[in-house]
Amino acid sequence: MVNPDPAARRALPSVDRLLSSGPVAALVSQFGRAMTTDTIRTLLQGQREKLAQNAGAFEFDEAHFIADCKTSLEKQTRPSLRPVFNLSGTVLHTNLGRAVMPQSVADAVMIAMTRPVNLEFDLGGGARGERDTHVEKWITRLAGGDGAVVVNNNAAAVYLALNSLGAKKEVIVSRGELIEIGGAFRIPDIMKRAGVKLVEVGTTNRTHLKDFAEAITPRTAAIMKVHTSNYAVQGFTAAAPEVELAALAHEHGIPYIVDLGSGMLVNLEDYGLPHEPTPREALANGADLVTFSGDKLLGGPQAGLLVGKKDLIARIRKNPMKRALRVDKMTLAALDALLRLYTNPDKLREEVTAIRLLTRTRAEIREQCERVLPYLQNAVTALVTRADAKIVDTGSQIGSGSLPVDSLPSAGIAMTPTGKAARSFADKLSQAFRAMPVPVIGHIREGAFVLDFRCLDRVDHEREFVAQLKQLRL
Ligand SMILES: *Cc1c(COP(=O)(O)O)cnc(C)c1O
Repeated sequence: MVNPDPAARRALPSVDRLLSSGPVAALVSQFGRAMTTDTIRTLLQGQREKLAQNAGAFEFDEAHFIADCKTSLEKQTRPSLRPVFNLSGTVLHTNLGRAVMPQSVADAVMIAMTRPVNLEFDLGGGARGERDTHVEKWITRLAGGDGAVVVNNNAAAVYLALNSLGAKKEVIVSRGELIEIGGAFRIPDIMKRAGVKLVEVGTTNRTHLKDFAEAITPRTAAIMKVHTSNYAVQGFTAAAPEVELAALAHEHGIPYIVDLGSGMLVNLEDYGLPHEPTPREALANGADLVTFSGDKLLGGPQAGLLVGKKDLIARIRKNPMKRALRVDKMTLAALDALLRLYTNPDKLREEVTAIRLLTRTRAEIREQCERVLPYLQNAVTALVTRADAKIVDTGSQIGSGSLPVDSLPSAGIAMTPTGKAARSFADKLSQAFRAMPVPVIGHIREGAFVLDFRCLDRVDHEREFVAQLKQLRL
């Protein structure tokens, strides 16, 4: 109803008057007084500006105003870290949180979060315990070695290994393995920070055993091998065989360390995937210490695992930096639950989400694309600039620097504009999909916006994906 008195109609309510109204009280109870008051103030300022611009036509609509307050408060308090649909075609996408974990792992974490646990408490003797023991038995059982340590990530594992075994001494690495792993992790830099003097040997493409042999001095603390997980040296190449490198190190009484990067506890060829070196193989080849990630191919939480000889593990444990790099109870609970799944390799494909996603066949993914296609077609033809959506073959990446040259045969849906459209159309479409209630992350290829469906394997998630397509706006 329009208020007959123009002055009253223009008058804006005070903040206090609004705060004492019933519907605002509900907002105060949900979002707190301070946030609600601030939001009312900000929105009232907007109203005041409107009134100043066009006093004649202005009318304060209280119900509408409160609804706007609610929307604003919801937006401000929405979690910053949100679920997204990873249709990027990269399974272990570092920027999207790498491995998605099984429900059984999440359940174990929930218990560790909400109840006291025997994290560093020996239930037998009632004395202080060691937090890594909860997972050490699984790691050594699955990977070999006679001791294991867990830290925050593999970068920390490499740092801790070098700092514990090589500080103020020299570590020999092949020039072909001085890699950078995204962001700021570069082997030469990490060595410097660990207080180790890097001794580079060989060349980018060829390094021989004698290169290592000639570099050994009384100051040498270790020989290190870095798995060049995110790039491949092809053609005229040579690397010293691991067995011989290990033997050379042992002749001189120094350890042979291997940074595997990804590291996998089972032979991936058994699952139809390209081979990835395992810690067990590295240890069998003579490595004294192996480091690898928890959230790459292993499919678990962010962690760095060190496994190997007891005396080296003991030296690493004694390093005060272990305390600075240690993992929390949630990570240990997740690793414990995950590693137990690896004791039954026959069920890995069913139970470990990352392996399930990596082993989906193109035929299966294509079938899913056919189910989803009509809904996507509907959504994109309703846009102002129309687009055409069709099923295409894609190649998924494993991601996180694992197995860079191999791509997995996959399928997706490519969207291209019909008729004349701006060249930036694919960018706009990509932005529109990211703006959905559950943001959809795809990739752009040859002017088309492509969604690779490998990582949308859950029926409930597919339903959620389809249901929100109605809200697609350019
Ligand atoms: C990924 C990787 C690292 C770093 O591991 P994060 O778990 O990401 O810290 C180190 N070395 C190699 C060879 C890697 O592939």
